[in-house]
Amino acid sequence: MTTFDIVGAEKALRDQREHLVHQLAELGAAESGDLNADIDFGGSFADAAAVTAERTEVLGVVDSLKAQLENIDRALAKVESGTYGICEDCGKQISAARLEARPESIRCIDCKTKAAGR
Ligand SMILES: [Zn+2]
Repeated sequence: MTTFDIVGAEKALRDQREHLVHQLAELGAAESGDLNADIDFGGSFADAAAVTAERTEVLGVVDSLKAQLENIDRALAKVESGTYGICEDCGKQISAARLEARPESIRCIDCKTKAAGR
């Protein structure tokens, strides 16, 4: 059995989730990642190219925040189903040190390294 503090991990995940949702809201994006239609980029219509560029940049940030949010939701689902800390790929226990550093981890370091190399 692991001595890993799952309650602490769940709290860290929920804190991170709240933080990400807040960041998304500040960017004018819903939790789903959809930008509000009436988002104001502060530019005039004459400057449409700059607005488009800014919008693209914001969408990039939103995408990255959304991806983090999805990871956290997956990890939280695992907390609920009792499989938190088990590598999604190989089924081995993820090291406590790794989970402490990145509570949203759903793969062990070996599988993560392999996945990154794909
Ligand atoms: Zn693994």
